[in-house]
Amino acid sequence: MAQDRRRRQGFAAFPDAVIAEIQRAADTGVYDIRGLGARRHVPSFDDLVFLGASVSRYPLEGYREACGTNVVLGARYAKKPIELKIPVTIAGMSFGALGANAKEALGRGATAAGTSTTTGDGGMTNEERSHSKLLVYQVLPSRYGMNPDDLRRADAIEVVVGQGAKPGGGGMLLGQKITERVAGMRTLPVGIDQRSACRHPDWTGPDDLEIKIQELREITDWEKPIYVKVGAARPYYDTALAVKAGADVVVVDGMQGGTAATQDVFIEHVGIPTLPAVREAVRALQELDMHRTVQLIVSGGIRSGADVAKALALGADAVSIGSAAMIALNCNRPLYLEDYEALGTEPGKCAHCHTGRCPVGVATQNPELEARLDPVMAGRRVANYLKVLTLEAQTIARACGKSHVHNLEPEDLAALTVEAAAMAEVPLAGTRWIPGK
Ligand code: SF4
Repeated sequence: MAQDRRRRQGFAAFPDAVIAEIQRAADTGVYDIRGLGARRHVPSFDDLVFLGASVSRYPLEGYREACGTNVVLGARYAKKPIELKIPVTIAGMSFGALGANAKEALGRGATAAGTSTTTGDGGMTNEERSHSKLLVYQVLPSRYGMNPDDLRRADAIEVVVGQGAKPGGGGMLLGQKITERVAGMRTLPVGIDQRSACRHPDWTGPDDLEIKIQELREITDWEKPIYVKVGAARPYYDTALAVKAGADVVVVDGMQGGTAATQDVFIEHVGIPTLPAVREAVRALQELDMHRTVQLIVSGGIRSGADVAKALALGADAVSIGSAAMIALNCNRPLYLEDYEALGTEPGKCAHCHTGRCPVGVATQNPELEARLDPVMAGRRVANYLKVLTLEAQTIARACGKSHVHNLEPEDLAALTVEAAAMAEVPLAGTRWIPGK
């Protein structure tokens, strides 16, 4: 009997998905490319819980006592730091990867919620500039769409060194998304696959980064905050070097962060999760006596107000959302089911941004598909979602007795797993044990 059962069992090392991928690779000879972030389970904010007030702490009354959510970014050197009403920003996503309506909707939503949105590889569109009260302009290795005038039109500059989905790698934009407008902005041929560089052409290390930041400050008259964004791999050293190079704000993007298109092997196997990345970055800032002087923005897998509150409790000043903002726009919503089916997927499982055939009009340049996304309505959904994230974070902060979300601290947290306790440096629930301490 036992032998029979074993014979019917699959192989632990070769589950169905692995067999299918080996056979797909054998049939085609090409690696798998897809969008969004890691599918695998990694230690995350889900492995932490808050210790709400009881006898030893008292909570704040939700309907009577205020709990602040504002944050100032970039006061270290910039003459005009950015002031956000909420500690949640919209991450950089390129025009090209997303359609113009999606970019406009993100700007509308962020503006209504009192926060900023960010450009991406490929430059700044007029739609997003005109609908974003606060717009962060990314300077990327590819320099696609790079324009000094746009640096001056922006409210902050983000030097992108890496991205959580692919630290050490560049992105891709497949030919089917390179329309005349996208090609024109990037000075590339129409309809040809494009690969973004992984390294800035004019610097090779931290000393050059310092020079680059100085240049950007001079171009923008020292007005704009300069962010440095890194993919989480060695966040302690990267944060310390970014601070030394003169960054006003450091953005650390964990491996759950999404992308429009890159190799699946990159998304699943390169970089570290957001949870340990936050503590490493905070440790670097604290050791340099720069915590709260240089702000830390954390991104990669932020979905709820609980995630926001946990990131802040671990020492971040704000968080950034990308995939979740796309989902608020309608990504993976059960609409146009036949189009999901034609892509070989279904709502809730789609990661086909690279194809340009987005069923809900978010990640596409096809005018017919793009028309499915109304930027006004989608902008309202983004604003609603940002509002809920903030209300949830405030609810948790009040329950911990805090009058500002930034007053949350590691002491308010416990871990549900040994791994999370070690990574977040908070005690395992019900004990005083922090592994390694
Ligand atoms: S629904 Fe659109 S935006 Fe969402 S994963 Fe699929 S293709 Fe990408």
